[in-house]
Amino acid sequence: TTAERVLGVEDLHVTYGEVMALRGVDLHVDEGEIVGLIGPNGAGKTTLANTVSGFLDYEGSVTYRGEDVHEKKPSDLVSAGLVHCSEDRDLFGHLSVADNLELGAYRHDEGWEERRDFVYDLFPRLEERSDQHARTMSGGEQQMLAIGRALMSDPDLLVLDEPTLGLAPVILQDISDGIEEIRESGVTILLTEQNVTFTMNHADRVYLLEQGRVEREGHPDELRGDEYIRDAYLGH
Ligand code: ATP
Repeated sequence: TTAERVLGVEDLHVTYGEVMALRGVDLHVDEGEIVGLIGPNGAGKTTLANTVSGFLDYEGSVTYRGEDVHEKKPSDLVSAGLVHCSEDRDLFGHLSVADNLELGAYRHDEGWEERRDFVYDLFPRLEERSDQHARTMSGGEQQMLAIGRALMSDPDLLVLDEPTLGLAPVILQDISDGIEEIRESGVTILLTEQNVTFTMNHADRVYLLEQGRVEREGHPDELRGDEYIRDAYLGH
């Protein structure tokens, strides 16, 4: 049996004025996978995450569950199950943790309270701090809240853009455990990261992006054995 294609990207080009950020990217994410997208600063990871989530214009093909996303707005994609968790976190700083989560469930359909409970089980710190203003939370706690809020939209595909950016090592384990539990709950994940080791620990397949192009792709074990990746990204 072949797994169902959740996200398909073919010959994707994105430019910002004169800057060519993506220059013909092909990648895909299948049902139940965690796919990692690694690469240095400026490689185009965030551009790819923003494009598939409907925020940027592009040339080439992007399909979600077989449907072309070109004419779709980000909110249409969220309703269809493609939910983006931005590296900027985009929290409502003057609102409480609980309110940020409730706003994440903007469809407020049946089941949102269950999803909130799932988020609180995932990150108990959020429940302990449910009345605290989001802006006064630590960087790691804010990242948990951003992921939690994305989960409130009941994703089928979660696009997680650089969840470990700027976080202290002690908090990485919580984010790591969270990602595994989210996978176990049946959510497919596209994970963009500069942290190669973190990504290799979670991903079923990894793409290395450099200067807007896919330079390598494969299973983490294959890439760990690749001399170029070892020298340039794993430091041994
Ligand atoms: P980082 O890990 O630093 O976030 P990244 O891999 O996510 O890097 P992008 O943020 O996608 O890379 O950037 C890809 C390229 O596009 C870079 O050269 C960047 O300067 C450029 N770029 C990104 N956003 C814009 C913008 N709004 N206007 C102009 N150029 C941009």
